[in-house]
Amino acid sequence: MTDSAQSQSVKLAEAACKAMAMQGIPPTPQNYAVWYAYAAGTMPKLTAQIDELAARQQAFTAEISAELYKAHFGGGVESVEVLETGTRLHSVIDQVRRYLDDHAGTVGDFENTLDTFSTAIGGSQPAEKVRALIADLIRETQLMAERNYTLEGRLGTIASEVTELRENLQVVQREALTDGLTGIPNRKFFDTRLAEAAREAMRDGEAMSLLLGDIDFFKRFNDSFGHQIGDQVLKLVARTLSDSVKGRDTPARFGGEEFAIILPRTNLKQATIVADQIRAAVMRRKFVGKDSRDDYGSVTISFGVAQYRANESLTDLIGRADGALYHAKHEGRNRVSTELNAPAETAKAS
Ligand code: GH3
Ligand code: MG
Ligand code: MG
Repeated sequence: MTDSAQSQSVKLAEAACKAMAMQGIPPTPQNYAVWYAYAAGTMPKLTAQIDELAARQQAFTAEISAELYKAHFGGGVESVEVLETGTRLHSVIDQVRRYLDDHAGTVGDFENTLDTFSTAIGGSQPAEKVRALIADLIRETQLMAERNYTLEGRLGTIASEVTELRENLQVVQREALTDGLTGIPNRKFFDTRLAEAAREAMRDGEAMSLLLGDIDFFKRFNDSFGHQIGDQVLKLVARTLSDSVKGRDTPARFGGEEFAIILPRTNLKQATIVADQIRAAVMRRKFVGKDSRDDYGSVTISFGVAQYRANESLTDLIGRADGALYHAKHEGRNRVSTELNAPAETAKAS
């Protein structure tokens, strides 16, 4: 049904109801048929008679209304049933239409059928025609229901596809930010998180520190036990790091055998303590072959610590932590150095 056709039939129905209300005419199906037809102007004789009665300022009593109905719609029981059916259908059609509006339904055929219906019952058709129209309507409604069912099914499928897509996307995003070997955040995640932590530190006027760790003599370890055992050790060191920090801290694989830990709300002194605890925890770990029970001994790790300075570039912060790490290596490894230990030249030399 087109917008204008729909609003037209609504207007006619409104006009009929208004006319009846204004003249105190009881809203029976019969009276509705009379006044709808009058509003629509579909029955010239009826229109003429009503106009004439109105000109004479004749009140539309229940009796006169009954006469009008009898004269123009024939009277009989069957016609009343047809009209009552029509009235019921009006509300059904309205419900369906509201449903269609709500669900943005755009099934042209169905709406055309509704349109035909509104017009047909408005003008009160012979019982046979109404029966045929009802059959049509039922068929169209069933078709519509099937289409809606399919549509709902499609929507359901789309919804679950979208959900699945979203979940997949989250998995992919998580994977893109996770180091494949160790399962902890990768460099990319680290860069993003460090920038965020720096902003938060400035905003809240809080300290923020960075640890850079590098496994000592790891080349030698690989050379002794093989790269695959080396990989297992990297995994275990990563887990030691993760287990040693709080939820708000971010451990990450910075590269090869290097790790970084972002420590929000932590100053240089506190960060140095954390670094030393991790250093001790790594040193304590003994690596043993899973099946072979081969003894691979242990590894040690050196740390450099730097505290973020408001408005400095992250490159500068990382540079100072790296300089401190270089200092720790230079001083003999398996130790923690801070930016205070490492002169600026040393930091640059690294
Ligand atoms: P230093 O104490 O000075 O750090 O000595 P190092 O041997 O650890 O340092 P170097 O930079 O000379 O060598 C780093 C080694 O780390 C070389 C490489 O074999 C090892 N490495 C880096 N990435 C991986 C990895 O993903 N898996 C394994 N198994 N080894 C790695
Ligand atoms: Mg290294
Ligand atoms: Mg190393």
